[in-house]
Amino acid sequence: MHSTFSDGLYTPSELCDFADKLGLTHVALCDHDTVDGLAEMSRAAEDIRQKRAARSDATPFTFLPSVEISTGSGGRTHLLGYGVNTAHAVLTNCLKEACTDRLGRAKKIIDLLAEQEIVLSADHQLALTAPTIGRAQIARVLVQEGVVKTMGQAFDRYLGEGKCAYVPRKCPSSLDAIEIIKSAGGVAVLAHPMRLALDDTAIRALIDEMARHGLDGLEVFHPSASRTAVRTLNLYARNKGLLVTGGSDFHGDQNTRVRMGRLPSGWQTMSEDIRMLLSMMSHS
Ligand code: AMP
Ligand code: MN
Repeated sequence: MHSTFSDGLYTPSELCDFADKLGLTHVALCDHDTVDGLAEMSRAAEDIRQKRAARSDATPFTFLPSVEISTGSGGRTHLLGYGVNTAHAVLTNCLKEACTDRLGRAKKIIDLLAEQEIVLSADHQLALTAPTIGRAQIARVLVQEGVVKTMGQAFDRYLGEGKCAYVPRKCPSSLDAIEIIKSAGGVAVLAHPMRLALDDTAIRALIDEMARHGLDGLEVFHPSASRTAVRTLNLYARNKGLLVTGGSDFHGDQNTRVRMGRLPSGWQTMSEDIRMLLSMMSHS
């Protein structure tokens, strides 16, 4: 899930409280291009464990500290780094550059919107200067200003690839990002591969190339995956000896199908897969 440290709507502590109420056993914070929320999330998760212990509730509450790095052309390819060492210089440099690029891009997007005669209020412009500013926050502002009805519309009309206020991110290549995650002791997982909208041959070629460069797993169970995509990717990951992971990608927005803890159905091997991921996190 994502917190206010990137483009989520809830703080790490609020996320842990919701997750506790839902009875979740594992939570991963994977903010875009920042690890700054992990300390708060780690403390909040510890509080939940103590609360559960105090009421003799043996349900675990395991926290997986992570990061989601935008990579490749335009920043479309997202890599998850589970269990990264947040103090590792190669990683912190990469994240610093990403935040600088995000800020510069947000300014350019605001200028392009102004060319369309969409001038955001001073308060909203100020809100868009956070270090990990992304298109989701800009889309929300466009909804609040009444320019569009939904975030989806904001992407379809202005912010999506090829639209009038689209500005591509400058990001490390996906292969470099895998190396950065692994050198920081993390487990590298390709996030929501189905979102890349590649055909079968192209997605396989991409996964094969990434696997040759150390990719550890695929996020098969993601809300964007159709039943067919889940089945195909699940088989492909297992044949290649890659980890299978999943997540709800919760950001907190209303009016979406995303709910905290909600995954595509049919993850028969969830417990084993989580155990494998946790074991790789502790060994890398
Ligand atoms: P960015 O990393 O700033 O380029 O923004 C990409 C993020 O925007 C994605 O990770 C999603 O969380 C969000 N996003 C992309 N497309 C849409 C959409 N159509 N509706 C709502 N959110 C979207
Ligand atoms: Mn993503």
